[in-house]
Amino acid sequence: MIERLSRTIQEERLPAPDYELIAKKLRHIVGDDGVSASGADRLATCRDYWPMGTLWFLEGKAPALPDLVVWPRSTSEVAAVLRLAGEHNIPVTPYGEGSGALGGAVPLQGGIALDMKRMDRVLELDRDNLMVTVEPGLNGARYEEYLNRHGFTGGHFPQSLRCSTVGGWVACRAAGTFSTRYGKIEDMVVALEAVLPDGKVIRGRKLPRTATGPRVDHLFIGSEGTLGVITAITLRIWPYPEKRIYSSYIFENIERALEAIRRLVQAGARPAVVRLYDPAETAHHFPDCEVPAGHVILIYLFEGAAGIVAAEDELAARLAREEGGVAAGPAPVERWLETRFNVSLASKLFRQGAVVDTIEVTTSWSKAAEIYHAMQKALLEVEGTVLATGHYSHVYPEGAALYLTLVGFPPGDKREYYRRLWNAAMDSCLALGGAISHHHGVGLHRGLWMAQEHGQALEALRMIKDAFDPQGIMNPGKLGLGEVKKWPE
Ligand SMILES: Cc1cc2nc3c(=O)[nH]c(=O)nc-3n(C[C@H](O)[C@H](O)[C@H](O)COP(=O)(O)OP(=O)(O)OC[C@H]3O[C@@H](n4cnc5c(N)ncnc54)[C@H](O)[C@@H]3O)c2cc1C
Repeated sequence: MIERLSRTIQEERLPAPDYELIAKKLRHIVGDDGVSASGADRLATCRDYWPMGTLWFLEGKAPALPDLVVWPRSTSEVAAVLRLAGEHNIPVTPYGEGSGALGGAVPLQGGIALDMKRMDRVLELDRDNLMVTVEPGLNGARYEEYLNRHGFTGGHFPQSLRCSTVGGWVACRAAGTFSTRYGKIEDMVVALEAVLPDGKVIRGRKLPRTATGPRVDHLFIGSEGTLGVITAITLRIWPYPEKRIYSSYIFENIERALEAIRRLVQAGARPAVVRLYDPAETAHHFPDCEVPAGHVILIYLFEGAAGIVAAEDELAARLAREEGGVAAGPAPVERWLETRFNVSLASKLFRQGAVVDTIEVTTSWSKAAEIYHAMQKALLEVEGTVLATGHYSHVYPEGAALYLTLVGFPPGDKREYYRRLWNAAMDSCLALGGAISHHHGVGLHRGLWMAQEHGQALEALRMIKDAFDPQGIMNPGKLGLGEVKKWPE
Protein backbone atom coordinates (compact mmCIF):
# COMPACT_ATOMS: atom_id res chain seq x y z
CA MET A 1 0.00 0.00 0.00
CA ILE A 2 2.64 2.51 1.09
CA GLU A 3 4.78 1.58 -1.92
CA ARG A 4 2.06 3.07 -4.15
CA LEU A 5 2.11 6.42 -2.35
CA SER A 6 3.54 9.01 -4.71
CA ARG A 7 6.71 10.71 -3.49
CA THR A 8 7.05 14.24 -4.65
CA ILE A 9 10.76 15.00 -4.32
CA GLN A 10 12.33 11.64 -3.53
CA GLU A 11 15.60 10.97 -5.32
CA GLU A 12 16.90 7.55 -6.24
CA ARG A 13 20.17 6.43 -4.69
CA LEU A 14 22.05 3.86 -6.71
CA PRO A 15 22.85 1.04 -6.45
CA ALA A 16 19.60 0.26 -4.59
CA PRO A 17 20.47 -1.46 -1.30
CA ASP A 18 18.93 -4.75 -0.19
CA TYR A 19 16.89 -3.38 2.70
CA GLU A 20 15.78 -6.80 3.96
CA LEU A 21 19.39 -7.73 4.53
CA ILE A 22 20.15 -4.32 6.06
CA ALA A 23 17.17 -4.63 8.43
CA LYS A 24 18.47 -8.02 9.57
CA LYS A 25 21.91 -6.56 10.30
CA LEU A 26 20.37 -3.57 12.05
CA ARG A 27 18.38 -5.87 14.36
CA HIS A 28 21.69 -7.25 15.60
CA ILE A 29 22.69 -3.70 16.58
CA VAL A 30 19.50 -2.16 18.01
CA GLY A 31 17.37 -5.23 18.78
CA ASP A 32 14.16 -6.44 17.14
CA ASP A 33 12.10 -3.52 18.43
CA GLY A 34 14.68 -0.97 17.24
CA VAL A 35 14.01 -1.36 13.50
CA SER A 36 10.82 -0.99 11.49
CA ALA A 37 9.87 -1.17 7.84
CA SER A 38 6.17 -0.67 8.58
CA GLY A 39 4.21 1.83 6.53
CA ALA A 40 3.01 3.69 9.63
CA ASP A 41 6.51 4.22 11.01
CA ARG A 42 7.87 5.27 7.64
CA LEU A 43 5.02 7.74 7.17
CA ALA A 44 5.59 9.16 10.65
CA THR A 45 9.18 10.06 9.82
CA CYS A 46 8.78 11.17 6.21
CA ARG A 47 8.21 14.86 6.87
CA ASP A 48 8.32 17.70 9.36
CA TYR A 49 6.34 20.96 9.65
CA TRP A 50 7.56 22.32 6.33
CA PRO A 51 4.36 23.70 4.72
CA MET A 52 5.16 22.11 1.34
CA GLY A 53 5.22 18.72 3.07
CA THR A 54 1.88 19.51 4.71
CA LEU A 55 0.35 20.56 1.39
CA TRP A 56 1.48 17.32 -0.25
CA PHE A 57 0.28 15.28 2.70
CA LEU A 58 -3.18 16.83 2.42
CA GLU A 59 -3.17 15.67 -1.22
CA GLY A 60 -2.20 12.14 -0.14
CA LYS A 61 1.45 12.44 -1.21
CA ALA A 62 4.69 12.16 0.73
CA PRO A 63 7.76 14.36 0.16
CA ALA A 64 10.03 11.29 0.43
CA LEU A 65 9.89 8.06 2.43
CA PRO A 66 12.58 6.37 4.48
CA ASP A 67 13.04 2.67 3.77
CA LEU A 68 13.65 1.84 7.42
CA VAL A 69 13.11 3.58 10.75
CA VAL A 70 15.73 2.88 13.42
CA TRP A 71 15.60 3.79 17.13
CA PRO A 72 19.05 3.66 18.74
CA ARG A 73 19.40 3.63 22.54
CA SER A 74 23.06 4.59 22.96
CA THR A 75 26.03 6.30 21.36
CA SER A 76 27.60 2.94 20.55
CA GLU A 77 24.43 1.84 18.75
CA VAL A 78 24.43 5.08 16.72
CA ALA A 79 28.09 4.46 15.82
CA ALA A 80 27.35 0.88 14.70
CA VAL A 81 24.35 2.03 12.62
CA LEU A 82 26.45 4.68 10.86
CA ARG A 83 29.25 2.20 10.17
CA LEU A 84 26.75 -0.19 8.61
CA ALA A 85 25.17 2.62 6.60
CA GLY A 86 28.64 3.59 5.32
CA GLU A 87 29.42 -0.01 4.29
CA HIS A 88 26.21 -0.18 2.25
CA ASN A 89 26.17 3.45 1.08
CA ILE A 90 22.78 4.11 2.71
CA PRO A 91 21.61 7.64 3.54
CA VAL A 92 20.80 8.40 7.17
CA THR A 93 18.52 11.24 8.25
CA PRO A 94 18.39 11.97 12.00
CA TYR A 95 14.87 12.62 13.27
CA GLY A 96 13.97 14.44 16.50
CA GLU A 97 10.26 15.26 16.75
CA GLY A 98 9.82 16.55 13.20
CA SER A 99 8.92 20.11 14.24
CA GLY A 100 11.44 21.63 11.83
CA ALA A 101 9.88 24.19 9.51
CA LEU A 102 12.01 23.79 6.37
CA GLY A 103 12.02 20.09 5.43
CA GLY A 104 15.29 19.32 7.24
CA ALA A 105 14.09 15.91 8.46
CA VAL A 106 12.70 14.80 5.08
CA PRO A 107 14.69 11.70 3.98
CA LEU A 108 15.31 12.99 0.49
CA GLN A 109 17.04 9.82 -0.76
CA GLY A 110 15.16 7.36 1.45
CA GLY A 111 17.38 5.07 3.51
CA ILE A 112 17.34 5.18 7.32
CA ALA A 113 15.31 7.62 9.39
CA LEU A 114 17.30 7.62 12.65
CA ASP A 115 14.67 8.47 15.23
CA MET A 116 16.47 9.73 18.35
CA LYS A 117 13.54 9.65 20.78
CA ARG A 118 14.71 6.60 22.74
CA MET A 119 17.90 8.46 23.67
CA ASP A 120 16.12 10.73 26.13
CA ARG A 121 17.97 10.41 29.44
CA VAL A 122 19.44 13.12 31.62
CA LEU A 123 23.02 11.92 32.02
CA GLU A 124 24.40 14.36 34.59
CA LEU A 125 23.25 17.39 36.57
CA ASP A 126 26.28 19.40 37.68
CA ARG A 127 24.83 21.74 40.30
CA ASP A 128 28.13 23.35 41.28
CA ASN A 129 29.10 24.34 37.76
CA LEU A 130 25.56 24.97 36.48
CA MET A 131 25.66 22.46 33.63
CA VAL A 132 23.44 19.57 32.58
CA THR A 133 24.26 16.78 30.15
CA VAL A 134 21.37 15.14 28.29
CA GLU A 135 20.77 12.79 25.41
CA PRO A 136 19.51 14.43 22.20
CA GLY A 137 16.08 12.79 22.00
CA LEU A 138 14.87 14.38 25.24
CA ASN A 139 11.63 16.30 24.67
CA GLY A 140 11.94 20.05 25.32
CA ALA A 141 9.14 20.36 27.88
CA ARG A 142 10.46 17.31 29.81
CA TYR A 143 13.91 18.88 29.83
CA GLU A 144 12.62 22.08 31.41
CA GLU A 145 10.38 20.20 33.87
CA TYR A 146 13.34 18.11 35.02
CA LEU A 147 15.42 21.25 35.63
CA ASN A 148 12.55 23.03 37.44
CA ARG A 149 12.13 20.04 39.78
CA HIS A 150 15.77 20.50 40.78
CA GLY A 151 15.58 24.29 41.19
CA PHE A 152 16.96 25.33 37.81
CA THR A 153 15.83 26.57 34.42
CA GLY A 154 17.28 25.87 30.98
CA GLY A 155 16.12 29.29 29.76
CA HIS A 156 15.12 27.85 26.35
CA PHE A 157 11.44 28.14 25.43
CA PRO A 158 10.77 27.84 21.69
CA GLN A 159 7.13 27.96 20.73
CA SER A 160 7.65 24.30 19.81
CA LEU A 161 8.92 23.43 23.34
CA ARG A 162 6.43 20.57 23.70
CA CYS A 163 7.03 19.06 20.25
CA SER A 164 10.80 19.32 19.75
CA THR A 165 13.94 17.67 21.14
CA VAL A 166 17.09 19.11 22.68
CA GLY A 167 19.09 17.50 19.85
CA GLY A 168 16.83 19.16 17.27
CA TRP A 169 17.41 22.54 18.95
CA VAL A 170 21.18 22.18 18.66
CA ALA A 171 21.04 20.75 15.13
CA CYS A 172 18.93 23.74 13.96
CA ARG A 173 20.57 26.60 15.98
CA ALA A 174 17.25 27.24 17.68
CA ALA A 175 16.11 30.24 19.72
CA GLY A 176 13.71 30.32 22.64
CA THR A 177 11.48 33.27 23.43
CA PHE A 178 13.62 34.14 26.49
CA SER A 179 16.74 34.49 24.37
CA THR A 180 17.64 38.10 25.15
CA ARG A 181 18.51 37.05 28.71
CA TYR A 182 19.67 33.44 28.21
CA GLY A 183 20.92 33.48 24.62
CA LYS A 184 20.18 31.26 21.66
CA ILE A 185 21.03 27.57 21.87
CA GLU A 186 24.55 28.24 20.55
CA ASP A 187 25.16 30.46 23.61
CA MET A 188 24.01 27.63 25.91
CA VAL A 189 25.96 24.70 24.48
CA VAL A 190 29.07 23.97 26.51
CA ALA A 191 30.07 20.71 24.84
CA LEU A 192 28.74 18.07 22.49
CA GLU A 193 29.31 14.41 21.85
CA ALA A 194 28.75 13.39 18.22
CA VAL A 195 29.18 10.36 16.03
CA LEU A 196 30.91 10.99 12.72
CA PRO A 197 29.65 9.24 9.57
CA ASP A 198 32.44 6.62 9.84
CA GLY A 199 31.32 5.70 13.38
CA LYS A 200 34.08 7.55 15.27
CA VAL A 201 32.91 9.44 18.35
CA ILE A 202 34.10 12.94 19.23
CA ARG A 203 33.58 14.49 22.67
CA GLY A 204 33.99 18.17 23.52
CA ARG A 205 35.30 19.01 26.99
CA LYS A 206 32.85 20.34 29.56
CA LEU A 207 34.78 23.46 30.36
CA PRO A 208 33.61 27.06 30.18
CA ARG A 209 36.07 28.42 27.61
CA THR A 210 39.16 27.07 25.86
CA ALA A 211 41.81 28.39 23.47
CA THR A 212 42.80 25.10 21.94
CA GLY A 213 41.93 25.73 18.34
CA PRO A 214 38.48 25.65 16.75
CA ARG A 215 35.90 23.60 18.70
CA VAL A 216 35.12 20.67 16.41
CA ASP A 217 32.16 19.62 18.56
CA HIS A 218 30.64 23.09 18.10
CA LEU A 219 30.64 22.56 14.31
CA PHE A 220 27.62 20.36 14.98
CA ILE A 221 25.59 23.36 16.17
CA GLY A 222 23.40 24.18 13.17
CA SER A 223 24.71 21.21 11.17
CA GLU A 224 21.16 19.82 10.70
CA GLY A 225 22.24 16.20 10.56
CA THR A 226 24.63 16.73 7.64
CA LEU A 227 27.90 16.05 9.48
CA GLY A 228 26.96 13.19 11.81
CA VAL A 229 24.68 12.54 14.78
CA ILE A 230 24.68 14.50 18.03
CA THR A 231 24.49 11.95 20.85
CA ALA A 232 24.99 13.99 24.06
CA ILE A 233 24.68 17.67 24.87
CA THR A 234 26.05 19.65 27.81
CA LEU A 235 24.19 22.91 28.34
CA ARG A 236 24.45 25.89 30.65
CA ILE A 237 21.62 26.17 33.17
CA TRP A 238 20.50 28.89 35.61
CA PRO A 239 19.03 28.95 39.11
CA TYR A 240 15.24 29.18 38.90
CA PRO A 241 14.59 32.94 38.80
CA GLU A 242 13.94 34.68 42.09
CA LYS A 243 11.72 37.37 40.63
CA ARG A 244 9.75 38.18 37.48
CA ILE A 245 8.42 41.57 36.39
CA TYR A 246 5.98 42.05 33.49
CA SER A 247 5.51 45.36 31.71
CA SER A 248 4.16 46.60 28.40
CA TYR A 249 3.97 49.86 26.43
CA ILE A 250 1.93 51.20 23.54
CA PHE A 251 3.69 53.25 20.86
CA GLU A 252 2.36 55.11 17.88
CA ASN A 253 4.65 53.23 15.50
CA ILE A 254 7.30 50.51 15.40
CA GLU A 255 10.13 52.99 14.78
CA ARG A 256 9.74 54.67 18.21
CA ALA A 257 9.31 51.33 19.95
CA LEU A 258 12.40 49.87 18.28
CA GLU A 259 14.39 52.86 19.47
CA ALA A 260 13.26 52.26 23.08
CA ILE A 261 14.36 48.62 22.85
CA ARG A 262 17.68 49.40 21.16
CA ARG A 263 18.60 51.92 23.84
CA LEU A 264 17.64 49.46 26.59
CA VAL A 265 19.71 46.50 25.40
CA GLN A 266 22.64 48.68 24.35
CA ALA A 267 22.65 50.12 27.89
CA GLY A 268 23.26 46.56 29.14
CA ALA A 269 19.78 45.49 30.30
CA ARG A 270 18.78 41.91 29.44
CA PRO A 271 15.03 41.43 29.61
CA ALA A 272 14.25 37.74 29.16
CA VAL A 273 11.40 38.44 26.74
CA VAL A 274 11.13 41.36 24.32
CA ARG A 275 8.36 41.26 21.76
CA LEU A 276 7.18 44.11 19.58
CA TYR A 277 4.06 43.50 17.46
CA ASP A 278 3.05 45.41 14.34
CA PRO A 279 -0.43 47.02 14.24
CA ALA A 280 -2.17 43.94 12.76
CA GLU A 281 -0.65 41.50 15.26
CA THR A 282 -1.26 43.92 18.13
CA ALA A 283 -4.96 43.98 17.26
CA HIS A 284 -5.07 40.20 16.74
CA HIS A 285 -3.19 39.07 19.87
CA PHE A 286 -4.29 41.76 22.34
CA PRO A 287 -7.94 42.54 21.52
CA ASP A 288 -8.72 43.45 25.17
CA CYS A 289 -5.93 46.00 25.54
CA GLU A 290 -7.66 48.97 23.92
CA VAL A 291 -4.70 49.83 21.72
CA PRO A 292 -5.60 52.72 19.34
CA ALA A 293 -5.84 51.58 15.72
CA GLY A 294 -2.49 51.61 13.94
CA HIS A 295 -0.52 51.64 17.22
CA VAL A 296 1.81 48.85 18.35
CA ILE A 297 2.42 47.01 21.60
CA LEU A 298 5.77 46.13 23.17
CA ILE A 299 5.98 43.56 25.95
CA TYR A 300 8.85 42.95 28.38
CA LEU A 301 9.41 40.14 30.84
CA PHE A 302 12.34 40.60 33.22
CA GLU A 303 13.55 37.72 35.38
CA GLY A 304 16.44 36.89 37.66
CA ALA A 305 17.78 38.36 40.90
CA ALA A 306 15.25 40.82 42.41
CA GLY A 307 17.51 43.90 42.50
CA ILE A 308 18.70 43.47 38.93
CA VAL A 309 15.26 43.03 37.38
CA ALA A 310 13.87 46.01 39.30
CA ALA A 311 16.64 48.22 37.90
CA GLU A 312 16.09 46.88 34.37
CA ASP A 313 12.36 47.49 34.59
CA GLU A 314 12.90 51.04 35.79
CA LEU A 315 15.28 51.80 32.94
CA ALA A 316 12.89 50.25 30.41
CA ALA A 317 10.06 52.44 31.72
CA ARG A 318 12.13 55.62 31.44
CA LEU A 319 13.33 54.85 27.89
CA ALA A 320 9.83 53.88 26.75
CA ARG A 321 8.47 57.19 28.12
CA GLU A 322 11.21 59.12 26.34
CA GLU A 323 10.21 57.46 23.05
CA GLY A 324 6.55 58.33 23.54
CA GLY A 325 5.43 54.96 24.92
CA VAL A 326 2.42 54.70 27.23
CA ALA A 327 2.54 52.05 29.95
CA ALA A 328 -0.09 49.30 29.51
CA GLY A 329 0.68 47.21 32.60
CA PRO A 330 1.33 43.49 33.05
CA ALA A 331 -1.92 42.11 31.49
CA PRO A 332 -0.60 41.84 27.89
CA VAL A 333 2.39 39.84 29.14
CA GLU A 334 0.11 37.54 31.14
CA ARG A 335 -1.96 37.03 28.02
CA TRP A 336 1.13 36.21 25.98
CA LEU A 337 2.30 33.70 28.62
CA GLU A 338 -1.10 31.97 28.51
CA THR A 339 -1.20 31.66 24.73
CA ARG A 340 2.45 31.34 23.75
CA PHE A 341 2.31 27.65 22.80
CA ASN A 342 -0.96 27.85 20.81
CA VAL A 343 -0.41 26.97 17.17
CA SER A 344 -3.75 25.53 16.10
CA LEU A 345 -4.75 28.37 13.74
CA ALA A 346 -2.32 27.30 11.01
CA SER A 347 -3.77 23.76 10.75
CA LYS A 348 -7.32 25.15 10.52
CA LEU A 349 -6.30 27.51 7.70
CA PHE A 350 -4.50 24.74 5.80
CA ARG A 351 -7.68 22.69 5.83
CA GLN A 352 -9.57 25.67 4.40
CA GLY A 353 -7.25 25.72 1.41
CA ALA A 354 -4.85 28.44 2.54
CA VAL A 355 -1.07 28.43 2.35
CA VAL A 356 0.34 29.47 5.72
CA ASP A 357 3.95 29.99 6.68
CA THR A 358 6.28 31.95 8.95
CA ILE A 359 9.61 33.45 7.96
CA GLU A 360 12.16 34.71 10.46
CA VAL A 361 15.19 36.79 9.56
CA THR A 362 17.87 38.74 11.39
CA THR A 363 18.52 42.43 10.91
CA SER A 364 20.86 45.04 12.33
CA TRP A 365 19.26 47.93 14.25
CA SER A 366 20.06 50.30 11.39
CA LYS A 367 17.73 48.37 9.06
CA ALA A 368 15.27 46.97 11.60
CA ALA A 369 12.25 49.08 10.63
CA GLU A 370 13.10 49.30 6.93
CA ILE A 371 13.37 45.53 6.49
CA TYR A 372 9.93 45.01 8.06
CA HIS A 373 8.29 47.49 5.69
CA ALA A 374 10.19 46.16 2.65
CA MET A 375 9.48 42.49 3.33
CA GLN A 376 5.84 43.12 4.14
CA LYS A 377 5.40 45.11 0.91
CA ALA A 378 7.15 42.44 -1.18
CA LEU A 379 5.01 39.67 0.30
CA LEU A 380 1.72 41.52 -0.15
CA GLU A 381 2.62 42.10 -3.79
CA VAL A 382 2.61 38.35 -4.46
CA GLU A 383 -0.82 37.62 -5.90
CA GLY A 384 -2.91 35.61 -3.46
CA THR A 385 -1.38 36.91 -0.22
CA VAL A 386 -4.09 38.10 2.11
CA LEU A 387 -1.99 38.64 5.22
CA ALA A 388 1.65 39.50 5.93
CA THR A 389 2.13 40.59 9.53
CA GLY A 390 5.15 40.72 11.76
CA HIS A 391 6.70 41.04 15.17
CA TYR A 392 10.22 41.42 16.51
CA SER A 393 10.79 38.34 18.63
CA HIS A 394 14.41 38.35 19.82
CA VAL A 395 16.77 41.29 20.36
CA TYR A 396 20.48 41.77 20.85
CA PRO A 397 22.79 44.78 21.23
CA GLU A 398 23.53 44.51 17.48
CA GLY A 399 20.02 44.03 16.13
CA ALA A 400 16.88 41.94 16.18
CA ALA A 401 14.98 39.03 14.71
CA LEU A 402 11.90 39.83 12.65
CA TYR A 403 9.23 37.13 12.43
CA LEU A 404 6.66 37.35 9.65
CA THR A 405 3.43 35.37 9.41
CA LEU A 406 1.89 34.84 5.97
CA VAL A 407 -1.46 33.64 4.79
CA GLY A 408 -2.38 33.26 1.13
CA PHE A 409 -5.26 31.89 -0.89
CA PRO A 410 -3.44 31.55 -4.21
CA PRO A 411 -5.56 31.74 -7.35
CA GLY A 412 -3.47 29.05 -9.12
CA ASP A 413 -0.95 26.38 -8.17
CA LYS A 414 -0.11 26.48 -4.46
CA ARG A 415 3.42 25.27 -4.98
CA GLU A 416 4.12 28.01 -7.51
CA TYR A 417 2.64 30.57 -5.10
CA TYR A 418 4.82 29.27 -2.29
CA ARG A 419 7.92 29.57 -4.46
CA ARG A 420 7.07 33.18 -5.39
CA LEU A 421 6.34 34.04 -1.77
CA TRP A 422 9.72 32.82 -0.59
CA ASN A 423 11.54 34.48 -3.49
CA ALA A 424 9.93 37.78 -2.51
CA ALA A 425 10.82 37.34 1.15
CA MET A 426 14.41 36.22 0.71
CA ASP A 427 15.22 38.74 -2.03
CA SER A 428 13.90 41.68 -0.03
CA CYS A 429 15.70 40.47 3.10
CA LEU A 430 19.05 40.01 1.33
CA ALA A 431 18.72 43.36 -0.45
CA LEU A 432 18.70 45.07 2.95
CA GLY A 433 21.59 43.04 4.34
CA GLY A 434 19.49 40.74 6.54
CA ALA A 435 20.37 37.12 7.34
CA ILE A 436 17.94 34.67 5.71
CA SER A 437 17.25 32.80 8.97
CA HIS A 438 17.37 33.66 12.65
CA HIS A 439 16.35 30.31 14.18
CA HIS A 440 14.34 27.96 11.96
CA GLY A 441 17.45 26.92 10.07
CA VAL A 442 17.90 25.94 6.44
CA GLY A 443 16.58 22.42 5.88
CA LEU A 444 15.71 21.70 2.27
CA HIS A 445 13.94 24.86 1.38
CA ARG A 446 16.34 27.62 2.42
CA GLY A 447 19.23 25.82 0.73
CA LEU A 448 18.27 27.78 -2.39
CA TRP A 449 19.57 31.01 -0.84
CA MET A 450 22.62 29.68 1.01
CA ALA A 451 25.06 30.79 -1.69
CA GLN A 452 23.74 34.36 -1.49
CA GLU A 453 23.86 34.24 2.28
CA HIS A 454 27.40 32.89 2.60
CA GLY A 455 29.29 33.59 -0.64
CA GLN A 456 32.62 31.75 -0.65
CA ALA A 457 32.03 30.45 2.87
CA LEU A 458 29.45 27.98 1.51
CA GLU A 459 32.22 26.41 -0.56
CA ALA A 460 34.32 26.08 2.61
CA LEU A 461 31.36 24.47 4.38
CA ARG A 462 31.05 21.98 1.50
CA MET A 463 34.72 21.09 1.96
CA ILE A 464 34.11 20.43 5.66
CA LYS A 465 31.09 18.30 4.76
CA ASP A 466 33.12 16.30 2.21
CA ALA A 467 35.91 15.74 4.73
CA PHE A 468 33.49 14.49 7.41
CA ASP A 469 31.19 12.60 5.07
CA PRO A 470 32.95 11.67 1.80
CA GLN A 471 30.18 9.24 0.79
CA GLY A 472 27.47 11.84 1.40
CA ILE A 473 25.33 9.55 3.54
CA MET A 474 24.35 12.11 6.18
CA ASN A 475 21.06 13.87 5.44
CA PRO A 476 21.74 14.50 1.74
CA GLY A 477 20.40 17.62 0.04
CA LYS A 478 20.22 19.81 3.16
CA LEU A 479 21.83 23.11 4.18
CA GLY A 480 22.33 24.02 0.52
CA LEU A 481 25.29 21.60 0.43
CA GLY A 482 23.95 19.32 -2.28
CA GLU A 483 21.79 19.80 -5.29
CA VAL A 484 18.10 19.00 -4.81
CA LYS A 485 17.09 17.71 -8.20
CA LYS A 486 13.31 17.92 -8.02
CA TRP A 487 12.84 21.09 -6.00
CA PRO A 488 12.27 23.67 -7.25
CA GLU A 489 11.57 22.83 -10.89
C1 LIG B 1 4.70 25.50 15.89
C2 LIG B 1 6.20 25.62 15.79
C3 LIG B 1 6.85 26.58 16.52
C4 LIG B 1 8.24 26.69 16.44
N1 LIG B 1 8.86 27.61 17.23
C5 LIG B 1 10.22 27.69 17.21
C6 LIG B 1 10.90 28.61 18.05
O1 LIG B 1 10.29 29.35 18.84
N2 LIG B 1 12.25 28.64 17.99
C7 LIG B 1 12.94 27.81 17.17
O2 LIG B 1 14.16 27.89 17.16
N3 LIG B 1 12.32 26.95 16.34
C8 LIG B 1 11.00 26.85 16.36
N4 LIG B 1 10.36 25.95 15.54
C9 LIG B 1 11.15 25.09 14.63
C10 LIG B 1 11.55 23.73 15.27
O3 LIG B 1 10.76 23.43 16.38
C11 LIG B 1 12.99 23.74 15.66
O4 LIG B 1 13.78 23.81 14.50
C12 LIG B 1 13.45 22.54 16.48
O5 LIG B 1 14.73 22.84 16.93
C13 LIG B 1 13.46 21.22 15.73
O6 LIG B 1 13.56 20.16 16.69
P1 LIG B 1 13.06 18.68 16.37
O7 LIG B 1 13.50 17.83 17.51
O8 LIG B 1 11.61 18.66 16.07
O9 LIG B 1 13.92 18.34 15.10
P2 LIG B 1 13.52 17.71 13.65
O10 LIG B 1 12.52 18.58 12.97
O11 LIG B 1 13.16 16.28 13.86
O12 LIG B 1 14.90 17.80 12.93
C14 LIG B 1 15.43 19.03 12.55
C15 LIG B 1 16.81 18.84 11.91
O13 LIG B 1 17.75 18.43 12.90
C16 LIG B 1 18.35 17.20 12.55
N5 LIG B 1 18.54 16.46 13.80
C17 LIG B 1 17.60 16.16 14.73
N6 LIG B 1 18.18 15.50 15.76
C18 LIG B 1 19.50 15.39 15.48
C19 LIG B 1 20.63 14.82 16.14
N7 LIG B 1 20.51 14.21 17.32
N8 LIG B 1 21.83 14.89 15.54
C20 LIG B 1 21.98 15.50 14.35
N9 LIG B 1 20.95 16.06 13.68
C21 LIG B 1 19.74 16.01 14.24
C22 LIG B 1 17.38 16.55 11.57
O14 LIG B 1 18.04 15.68 10.68
C23 LIG B 1 16.84 17.78 10.85
O15 LIG B 1 17.74 18.17 9.84
C24 LIG B 1 8.97 25.82 15.58
C25 LIG B 1 8.29 24.85 14.84
C26 LIG B 1 6.91 24.75 14.93
C27 LIG B 1 6.23 23.69 14.14
